[in-house]
Amino acid sequence: MLAPASPNTADYQLPALPYAYDALEPYIDARTMEIHYTKHHAGYTANLNKALEGHADADKDITHILANISNYSTAVRNNAGGYYNHNLFWAVMAPNAGGAPTGTLADDINRSFGSFEKFKEAFNKAAAARFGSGWAWLVVSNGKLAITSTANQDNPLMDVAEIKGTPILALDVWEHAYYLNYQNRRPDYISAFWNVVNWEQVAQNYNAAKR
Ligand code: MN
Repeated sequence: MLAPASPNTADYQLPALPYAYDALEPYIDARTMEIHYTKHHAGYTANLNKALEGHADADKDITHILANISNYSTAVRNNAGGYYNHNLFWAVMAPNAGGAPTGTLADDINRSFGSFEKFKEAFNKAAAARFGSGWAWLVVSNGKLAITSTANQDNPLMDVAEIKGTPILALDVWEHAYYLNYQNRRPDYISAFWNVVNWEQVAQNYNAAKR
């Protein structure tokens, strides 16, 4: 007789932060970055593994889980979102970054939103207007660029999202992302974010999302 199959072990890994905790100073302070990565993101990763322990889908790609999130528990929804969202968030920021996009992404932002300035205004509005905890997104939705926001750790890859799409730029507007440095001043944090956007990575995400 065959031995019974061992239950699937979930083994999502916390990716290495691509820069030092103080690399995004003064826009994002080192203490916030350290707590955000080592406590919050690490926590979502550990809790996702716990929530999927023994589940038939424990070894599935995170995008598969997100695309079918309505089939899972609230613990999976919160932690799968928290895991994926922060993976993307760290990657779309970098030291000595900011400025403006170039090439096709710049052209398509201009075409979709009127100008880069208008795009930023609309994104800022989505980030500022998100009540409570959540995220602002630039996504590719049905082949087009769109701005959206989600509550809690939801994201546009989830089957429950109002506007579905592939995220290419993400901004965390949970208070844990800014409160130590900016306290209640979320708009100041949102303005500062543009100084650390890694447009090269966002352009790569855009090209991958369009395929
Ligand atoms: Mn966060």
